[in-house]
Order: sequence, then structure tokens, then C-alpha cells
Amino acid sequence: MTIKSSKTKGDLHEDAKSSYFHLPALDVSDAFPQATPASIFPPCTSDYYQFDDLLTPEEQAIRMKVRECMEKEIAPIMAEYWEKAQFPFHVVPKLSALCVAGGTIKGYGCPGLSITASAFATAEMARVDASCSTFILVHSSLAMLTIALCGSETQKQKYLPSLAQIKTVACWALTEPDYGSDASALKTTATKVAGGWILEGQKRWIGNSTFADVLVIFARNTTTNQINGFIVKKDAPGLQATKIENKIGLRIVQNGDILLKRVFVPDEDRLPGVNSFQDTNKVLAVSRVMVSWQPIGISMGVYDMCHRYLKERKQFGAPLAAFQLNQQKLVHMLGNVQAMILVGWRLCQLYEKGKMTPGHASLGKAWISLKARETVSLGRELLGGNGILADFLVAKAFCDLEPIYTYEGTYDINTLITGREITGVASFRPAVLSQRSRL
Ligand SMILES: Cc1cc2nc3c(=O)[nH]c(=O)nc-3n(C[C@H](O)[C@H](O)[C@H](O)COP(=O)(O)OP(=O)(O)OC[C@H]3O[C@@H](n4cnc5c(N)ncnc54)[C@H](O)[C@@H]3O)c2cc1C
Repeated sequence: MTIKSSKTKGDLHEDAKSSYFHLPALDVSDAFPQATPASIFPPCTSDYYQFDDLLTPEEQAIRMKVRECMEKEIAPIMAEYWEKAQFPFHVVPKLSALCVAGGTIKGYGCPGLSITASAFATAEMARVDASCSTFILVHSSLAMLTIALCGSETQKQKYLPSLAQIKTVACWALTEPDYGSDASALKTTATKVAGGWILEGQKRWIGNSTFADVLVIFARNTTTNQINGFIVKKDAPGLQATKIENKIGLRIVQNGDILLKRVFVPDEDRLPGVNSFQDTNKVLAVSRVMVSWQPIGISMGVYDMCHRYLKERKQFGAPLAAFQLNQQKLVHMLGNVQAMILVGWRLCQLYEKGKMTPGHASLGKAWISLKARETVSLGRELLGGNGILADFLVAKAFCDLEPIYTYEGTYDINTLITGREITGVASFRPAVLSQRSRL
């Protein structure tokens, strides 16, 4: 007996096509068994000059604790969350247990680490996943540090302990749609009213802002025309934060657009230590040291991944590691990593001795991120086709580095900060505008 189908030939063809196209993807280990994906993270082979020996036992211990956690908890899930552009909230307790949030801040439940320990912890996070390190960096080195450096005693006692345990999350909102590199010209306003301030304006790109409990927001005081800082709580009426979609880098980080429509902030939540843009620079100089360690960590991870991959993958009857051109690229990457660590480490020492200038921090951030760009590009080449897959780390790292090259001052802006310091001449504004402002 033949069963008559009501479907036409065309329908049946479409059905067959769609079931064919809807087959789930092969697991990458089945599809490409020749090399181990980054979910099983490669051993650290990038410490060629054995810098680890120069660390104190405490610094070594924190480094190993962060490395272990990142390799065990984050590496197996990072490609999936990166692809989905979602934040893995379930790992926050693991990150909290590392006791790195609050970094160098002493007291208020913060770890009071040496800047070197904090820097190596940042690098170890970024080695596995730059998004996780950015989440901590924004929370700790920007928001918490601003409260620690510019907050009142009451504000420090109220906010820092739960932020240190990541029971609450913070973000740091300076950039606006119209003012990125030119942030000192920002136009969000703060107007004094009885008992507090009314904030009105817009912020863009703010990391963690879609779920932050505490938002550190910078606005222009309408009386003094200077920049002030405020602590805004997430449920403040008139505050709205929405996720920026379609990013190609740091996809796990939730960057947001913030709208402030007549948001009331009580007097007690104005940061007394932010009275001009220069005060935000105090925070940025320190956090730029930490940001410099992100490209170092990213480059270490990419080198480690390439080192393993080249030994596992064979072509022309030999492991890729046996070809001279590949060895040259690998050695070039390794040399970059050693030099980047030295520059980053010297920055930490200058900071500890109270000798670090804004120009030092900016040169470090600019030069290290430039070298990292070169390093991850070489890594991307070395992995061939797999160099464009998040599963083998380098494609993800390649994309994650791009926003780091740009945030906390682009390469150009940091170059100009150092340029101003060494020549005594500021060249941020086009000559024609500078001349006009002198008239
Ligand atoms: C993923 C991500 C996360 C971020 N997180 C935060 C955050 O948490 N909080 C926050 O406040 N901000 C954040 N930012 C914003 C970031 O700091 C800005 O993107 C950055 O300062 C650059 O500003 P812009 O994107 O507006 O670029 P623009 O300022 O428009 O610059 C565009 C280009 O012009 C160049 N340029 C600009 N001015 C000059 C000049 N005078 N001379 C020479 N070249 C110049 C720049 O170098 C750049 O190449 C984030 C950005 C990204 C992408």
C-alpha cells in the first residue's frame, strides 16, 4: 500500500535540506583530533626567563591560585559563553574565593596585595580569558579604587567590603557617546538640589553596567563646571542600562549604554575626592598599570597554546614545530612576552617607589598592547584555520585584544600623554583649534 503524501516535491526537498542543515556541530575534539582545544588549557611555557623565581612566595602563591582556578573553572566554558556573549554568573563565587578584588587596597576587607601580585593575578586571568580579567579590572581597579582613593571614610566602609567579596558588583562610567578620547569634555550634568544631586545624561561602553549594583558615575557640576563623581545604586529611579550587542571582542563582558534621566543621588553618595578631571586621572594612572598586564597575560596564553599546538599538529610528515618559519614566529612571540613582562614589572616597581608618572603608565600601556597585537597575530597565523576558532583560544584572544588596545586610552592617546610629558607640549588638539583657543 502506498501512502500518499500531501507534500509536494519541493516541500520534501526543503524538509531534507533543513534536517541536513540542523545536524548539531561535531564536538571540536572529534572534528579535529590532531590537537587539543583550549578547554584543556596548555601548560605555561611562556616564563622562559624564569621570572617566577623573582617573585616573593606570596606573589608566587597568588599567581598559582589564579592560574589553577582559571584553567579548571573558566577554560572549559569560555568558548561557549564567548560565543553566546553571556556572562557566567555561576563562576563569580570561584572568582571571589581568589581574594583579588580590591587588589592593592588596604583595609575594608580588601586583600592589600602588592602591585606586583595584583599585576601577575591580572595576567594569569587574561592568559586564559581576557573577559574575566576585564570584569575584575573594571570592578576592582576602576570602581573600587575610585571609592578607595576618592571616597569618604563612610563610603569606604559602606561599599568596599561587599565589593571585595564580589557579593556586589561595580562599574565605572566615564565615557559618553560624544566623548571617548576627549572624556574630559563630558557633558552629563550634576545639578545641586536640596539633599543631593540630579544627574542627567548618557554613558556608553560601561563594562558590567547591565548588572552592577554600584555605578560610579562622572558628571559635570553645573555650578563649578568641574567633573564630580557619584555612587549611583542600580535601582535608582531614572537609571537605565542596556547591553551593547554585536561586539567582536570581550564578548563575555557586558558593556552597556546608560541613560540617566533626572537620577537623584543623595549628598552622602557624592565622592568628595573627585573635584576635577585630574582626580579621575589619579585612578586611571594606576589602573593603566593593571590594564598593561592584560595584553601580557593574553600573549602568554597565546604563546602557550601555539607551543602545544605546533608540537601536536603534523603537516608534510612532521610536526608544525619542526618548520623553521614556524619556529621563528614562535621565538618572536616568546621574545615579545619576556620584554613585555619586564616593562610591566618595572612599572609596578616605579609605582611602589612613588616614582611612576602618568607618562610612564601610558607608555607601558601603549607599547605593551602594541607588542601584544603583533604576538597574537603571529599566533593566529600559526594555527592556520583553527586560528579563527574560539575553541583554540588564539582567535578569541586576537579579538579580545582589540578593545584593550582601545580602552583606558587608545594607543594614540596614551602615546600623546607620554609625548606631552617628555616634550612639555600637548598635542591632543589639532593645531588649528589650539591656535584659535589662544586667540
Ligand atoms: C569593550 C570596551 C569596554 C569599555 N569599558 C569602559 C568602561 O568600563 N568605562 C568607561 O568609562 N569607558 C569604557 N570604554 C570606553 C573606552 O575607554 C573608549 O572607547 C576609548 O576611550 C576611546 O574612545 P572612542 O571609542 O570614543 O574613540 P574615539 O575617541 O572616537 O577615537 C577614534 C580614533 O581616533 C583617535 N583619536 C582620538 N582623538 C585623537 C587625538 N587627539 N589625536 C590622535 N588620535 C586621536 C583614537 O586614538 C582612535 O583611534 C570601553 C570601550 C570598549 C570598546
